[in-house]
Amino acid sequence: MEVQPLIELPQRTLVDRFNRHLNYLRLSITDRCNLRCTYCVPDGFFPKLPSREILRYEEVLRLVKIAVHLGVSKVRVTGGEPLVRKGVYEFLDTLGRIDGITDISLTTNGVFLADQIDRIRKAGIGRINISLDSLKREKYKRITGFDRFDTVWKGIRLARERGVHPIKINVVVIRGVNDDELMDFARLTFDFPYAVRFIEYMPMGSHCRSYGQQILAPEILDKLKSLGELEPVPRNETDGPAERYRFKGAAGEIGLIRPISHHFCSDCNRLRLTASGQLRVCLLSNIQVDLKGPMRDGAADTELARLMIRAVLRKPRKHGLSCTEGSPVSDPMFAIGG
Ligand code: SAM
Repeated sequence: MEVQPLIELPQRTLVDRFNRHLNYLRLSITDRCNLRCTYCVPDGFFPKLPSREILRYEEVLRLVKIAVHLGVSKVRVTGGEPLVRKGVYEFLDTLGRIDGITDISLTTNGVFLADQIDRIRKAGIGRINISLDSLKREKYKRITGFDRFDTVWKGIRLARERGVHPIKINVVVIRGVNDDELMDFARLTFDFPYAVRFIEYMPMGSHCRSYGQQILAPEILDKLKSLGELEPVPRNETDGPAERYRFKGAAGEIGLIRPISHHFCSDCNRLRLTASGQLRVCLLSNIQVDLKGPMRDGAADTELARLMIRAVLRKPRKHGLSCTEGSPVSDPMFAIGG
């Protein structure tokens, strides 16, 4: 796949009505996944899009180049599980050669990390988020539907040995499921340079869990404090929404991602492109603009750029998710990419 030079496009950055500069694009390259995490794919319900509905790599790259022209500089590749898609390493290579992208990262369940870490590194991916909701093999299997804990754990170790940094471990905390492991996850940071990030469960789609199962960040922080004093870590450019802390003398750190207890909408710089070519302007809203249809009907780059700019102007000031009302989002997380 060759990267073609950009053609003339309207010179406007992606700025919304609230003066937020949207420079971060999360690309979901597939809706397929090799795990069935109960909170992401509720009740094993997993409709797959027909292949023709999924953007081809050339189409994704074309849209990314337009978005970069309009101001995007950070890209995260996600899914479904991005590493299950055929040709993903060549795609990552090509993505890495697009002028104007300064940061490419990956969110994965880590099942293919051990086998593919060298190809991932070669493609220029320096930052990896790995989802791991339990440190216990049996429980991991219950949550994900597959006995892959040892494989993922090996992948995390290899990634560290190959110099991937930071390695962020994403833990979606659910009461009665993995809240008994908060301390074990936190203790990992004493010895290893991992960023363990506790994520508040977001009810998504029509089959969401009961709100009683949500554990919000203040409760998590309270529990962690029994392990020692947590010092806030100053924010840096690639932080995203995580609130960062470190135990005194620890090699790694703790992150809290709290879309519910302390939403970060006023700083949100994100756009999402789904595997089916929909541009979503807020994870927790149903607003989306179809780019695939117009692109396949022959739209020029300038028209696609205008569609993106118009979509951005529809980005809501803040999301409507709370801990007491139903989900405002109809699609499950695997269909959007997280
Ligand atoms: N397959 C990859 C993975 O497992 O990381 C990427 C896709 S997954 C949808 C992206 C992230 O969304 C994961 O960290 C996952 O834990 C998180 N996630 C999924 N459903 C969620 C929910 N309902 N609330 C909060 N986070 C969720």
